[in-house]
Amino acid sequence: MRIVRDIAWRISFWRNTKNSPSQTINFLRRSQYFDRDTIKEYQLENVNRLIRLVKSASPFYKEHLKGQDGFLSEIEGLQQLPLITKEEIQGNYSDIELPCLEGRSFIHSTSGSTGDPIVTKLSSKAQAFRTAGHYRFYEWWGLRPHDRNILVWAKKATVSDSPSLLTSLRRKIREYLVEPQLFIDVFQLSSNSINHHFEKALAHRPVYIRGYLSGVLQFAELIDSSGLDGRALNLKLAIVTSEVLHTEQREFIERVLGCPVANEYGAAETGQLGFECPEGNMHLFEESVAAFSLEDQSLVVTEFHNDHAPFINYVNNDLVNLSTDTCPCGRTSRLIKSISGRIGDFVIADNGEKVSPYLFYYAMKELGDIGYPEAVIKYKAIQTGPNIELILVKGPQYCTEAEEYIGKRIRNSLGASTSIEWRFVDQIPREKSGKLRFFVQLTPDYSPTGAS
Ligand SMILES: [Zn+2]
Repeated sequence: MRIVRDIAWRISFWRNTKNSPSQTINFLRRSQYFDRDTIKEYQLENVNRLIRLVKSASPFYKEHLKGQDGFLSEIEGLQQLPLITKEEIQGNYSDIELPCLEGRSFIHSTSGSTGDPIVTKLSSKAQAFRTAGHYRFYEWWGLRPHDRNILVWAKKATVSDSPSLLTSLRRKIREYLVEPQLFIDVFQLSSNSINHHFEKALAHRPVYIRGYLSGVLQFAELIDSSGLDGRALNLKLAIVTSEVLHTEQREFIERVLGCPVANEYGAAETGQLGFECPEGNMHLFEESVAAFSLEDQSLVVTEFHNDHAPFINYVNNDLVNLSTDTCPCGRTSRLIKSISGRIGDFVIADNGEKVSPYLFYYAMKELGDIGYPEAVIKYKAIQTGPNIELILVKGPQYCTEAEEYIGKRIRNSLGASTSIEWRFVDQIPREKSGKLRFFVQLTPDYSPTGAS
């Protein structure tokens, strides 16, 4: 059956991207061991091709790259070209987008976790690389994307629960042949529904589980708190994405589900950026993107196969630490050593200073050190100007002392005039996108009076 699914997957790949699946995958199998000079040459050739294209065809880039001769002599030269921000893309999109010349055009939209999503188009070749990159990542772990799996994701409220007969039939054939997947909607996960989901998951016989980190984590937490045996699912791997993964979360999922956790990193506007290998290192996807970090570690990305909506030197707002360390697995790409939260997601103190949102993480973690390890089960902080709304799920040890400690810890970092609004709930509400972020900055441009 696996061979049949592989053939079906390849036919679907070809139909969608008009690129040869074997050629793209075989190239990626070889290129992961290219020496550094070869991969840089490959990137340089592709980036130069893209620069020449946009300079001749895009009104935006004709102006944006004025004075550049459209030719780099080394890939590091990208760092001398101007950057492009999300706001510039949104303001100039019609002058950036180029006609789709080959295959079909794909529409991607960012999750909008910052409140203003980008809708962008993707060429067939870029889509082929994104899809094949995923395929190679699964191969690293002895899997195929079309192996039986559970997807923990958010479902749009606009997707009908009762599609037409034809749509339903197509979906069933696709699910059976190309993607034997059990879908679990993160909005439906609860202590009341976990037994139902778990039974369905057991019957599905999944090989791996994939989802938003917070979705997979919640699935594992509910399994654990309901006394179910996550190991009975017999999973080979848990793949998490979209949110920053912490060591404790990784260990928890591994313990409950009894399988390793692999992290993948990407963004709709720039595609797949990194995949974790079995040695525990995240490899930058250098066959698809040229990337570097600015001094403050903001990541700058060029997805060089996307001729349709080319973003050259796009500042993606994540803080990423890139490294040239080598990985014991033998793959030669640069490594992503760490990813921290979105820049807009910093907490702003009453003196105007930016403070890491891990302030809240540590405030809660430290409760254990003062004798109340079970005071807070879950939390989320939302900043609106000088006000911090702290949403808490209380634990059995919640008490005045614990609350005072949290308040003091926050004011110590953010300033005495910070106002804290306490809200207690049974469950932390998710964002509309289905993601669960522990800190949300609603006023990124907030500048306290008197702050420079
Ligand atoms: Zn590796």
